[in-house]
Order: sequence, then C-alpha cells, then structure tokens
Amino acid sequence: MRYAVVNLGCKVNRVESDSFERALSAAGAVPGSLEAADLVVVNTCAVTAEAEKKTRKTVRRAVRASKGAVLVTGCSAVLHEDVYRAMGQRVSVVAKGQVEAEVSRIARELAEASRDVGDVVSDGAFAEKPDPSRAGDFAQRARVGVKVQDGCDNACSYCVIHVARGPACSVPADTVEADCRRLMEAGVREIVLTGINLGTYRQQSESGALGLHDLLERLLALADALPVPEDGAPTCRFRLSSIEPGDLSDALVALVARQDGRICRHLHLPLQAGSSKVLAEMNRSYTAEEYLQVVRSAREAVPQLSLTTDIIVGFPGETETDFQQTMDLARACRFSRIHVFPYSRREGTPAAERADQVDEAVKADRARRLRALAAKLSAADRAERAGAREWALVEVPGEAMTESYHGVSAPEGSQVGQLVRVTL
Ligand code: SF4
Repeated sequence: MRYAVVNLGCKVNRVESDSFERALSAAGAVPGSLEAADLVVVNTCAVTAEAEKKTRKTVRRAVRASKGAVLVTGCSAVLHEDVYRAMGQRVSVVAKGQVEAEVSRIARELAEASRDVGDVVSDGAFAEKPDPSRAGDFAQRARVGVKVQDGCDNACSYCVIHVARGPACSVPADTVEADCRRLMEAGVREIVLTGINLGTYRQQSESGALGLHDLLERLLALADALPVPEDGAPTCRFRLSSIEPGDLSDALVALVARQDGRICRHLHLPLQAGSSKVLAEMNRSYTAEEYLQVVRSAREAVPQLSLTTDIIVGFPGETETDFQQTMDLARACRFSRIHVFPYSRREGTPAAERADQVDEAVKADRARRLRALAAKLSAADRAERAGAREWALVEVPGEAMTESYHGVSAPEGSQVGQLVRVTL
C-alpha cells in the first residue's frame, strides 16, 4: 500500500501529520506520490480564507490525481464537512482523533485484498517496510515538533480555530516524555513543543498541578541523562512554538534564562494589534501597554531574547491611527520576525459580521508597510547580534537556523540535524 499525507497549516498540523505517517508506516504502507497513492490523507487548515481556498484545491487535486481513498481531516474538515464530502465518493471526512484508526483499517483491508489476488505486492510496495518507531518523525526535518496541547478556551473575535479544535486539553506529561525520549534517543537535537494555546498546558500530577515550565523541567532532566556531545553543544534543545503573552509566567521566563540556550532564548508572542482599542474588539486579553510590559520584563530577565510575533492588519474598524500604533509597538518590541496577516473574514465569527470591514486595498497597503518595517527590525536584531556565537541547527545542506531564529550558512561538512557553532 502506498500513501501520501498532505499537510497544510500550522506546526500543530505538522506534528499530527507526522503521527498519521507513523500509523501508516506501522501498518506496512510506504510513501508515494499522489498519483500512486492508495490512500491520501489531507490535513486541512482554516486559519484564513486563503488557507481554506488552498485546502479545497488540494483535496480536489488529490481526488483527481489518486485512484484510492482520500481522508480529509483537520480544522477546515470540521467546519465544512459537507463541502468535502461533496467532492467525491472516495472522500471521507474523519475527525483528527480517528485518523490513525482509520488509516490502520484501510491498510489492513488493502493488505487483505492484496493477499486475496495473489502476490500483487511484487511491485515493491511492501518491499522496504520502514521502522515504525522512526518513520514520519523527522524524515526530511531536523527540527521536530511534539504536540503537548490542543484546543483553546479563548474566543478571539476573528478566529475559527478555537471552534474547530474545541476546548483546551493537554497531553499527559508521561506521553510527552515518552515522545521526547524516543526522539532524543534517535538523535534529534531540537524539539519544538507545540500546541494551539501552548501556555495553557496543565496536568494534574501526584505533586499537584503541572504547568508548562514544570513539563520543560522534566524534559530537560531527560536530556541531562543523555551522553554529553564532545563539541559542547546541547544534547537536545527545546523551543516553544507560540505562547499567548498572558501565559508567559515569571517561572517560565526564569527557567529560559537559567538554561543557557537549552531552551531557545526565542519566544513567539502573538501581538495581533498594537492598538488597545482594536485588541479589546479582537477579544484579546491584554492591552498594548500590558503587552509591552511583558516584553520588557522578558528582555530584562533574558537579555539575549529574540522575539517574534503575529500581527493582523485591517481588522474591522482599524483606522490609520490604530495601524500607526501597531507600527510603533512593533518598533518598541524590536521583533526579529513578524508574520503579517491581512485580516481574513471567517464565517461565523463576530468580526466577520461587522459592517466596518476595511477595504482590501487599504489592508494590502498596511500589510506592505508592516512587512517593510519587519524586514528592517529583523536586520537590526541581526546586526545587534553581530559577532555573537550561537548554536545553530542545520536544517538543509548548507543552511542552519540559530537559537535566535536567524538563518545562517552552515559550515562546510556539517550534517543535517547537527547543532553547529556559528558566529552571527
Ligand atoms: S488564542 Fe485566540 S487566536 Fe489563538 S486559537 Fe485561541 S481563540 Fe484562536
């Protein structure tokens, strides 16, 4: 059996797609092209109208190109099940939690069918059965995500993800530890803890409630048990994918500060807008001033900190003055990278109902200006680090990503997945 997993969207989707690949490999399937696949899994995204358009196009293409079953899962599938079902009889819409069981069932059925008609696997489909404990985890990726949390209890007025994903829930710490141990033992040098609302990680343990910083402490202890590399690099370092500013506890910041790079001194704190008026209308839980205070405190505790963010431009009712406040706050925060999203109207959200939508041309212009500022801020952050030595992860031959999340050339002869010492 051949399979293709098509991943769209965020880091959490990427981790989930990895686990679908693991389930398929464990069932004896091998990866193949869309055309050759007996089973295609499309992990969909609904974060913006553009992402959803791409998702639908991808599913249509999978139906056209492949001859087998097409499983559609993920946020867009939850929100628009009928749309995908209508794309063909071979399409099934499956909840995330059921994908692994479903792919195992289809794999078993196909294997049975193959046996019934004789040795039709002689084309090599089962010839190289991959090791299920490794496949899909980090094939072609040096940095590996581990999902520790899902869902969100917030209700930002522009967002459909909390609807698609449901309430916040956390992966048991023992499961996270087992996942990380497996990756570390396989030689992974950077693990990214991911979640839809990562900072809300909570687990009850015998010693009381366990938060994100407690989880990190347990993972660091696991890394400590590994042999120390001769070059002095961290055995395995951790990175946090994204954390809401209100969830950045003092304990977590202090832990990052103490670890000397074993937890990357890089935080992604979604800002979304620099105007307190717009933030309130977005139903975000902080004002612009509070956000800046979080940034100042974090920078004071961790002077080498690199900060990245997400900003939406052209939210309904956003005036030029509001936008200028966003630009000012971005400068004050000295972000090293900004993901700029022109506001995307998502059906069923309060913001989509508003009459004061911003003209598309205005949104595009604001996105252009903010991206230009982002490029300047990124260059300034990099210039400030000039001469600093950092461990960088080789992501592809010749290219590496530093702890502070700047791309650099990898030293000649370095291997993908290796941590190398570079001078910025
Ligand atoms: S924090 Fe807000 S934007 Fe993020 S998933 Fe939750 S509701 Fe959506």
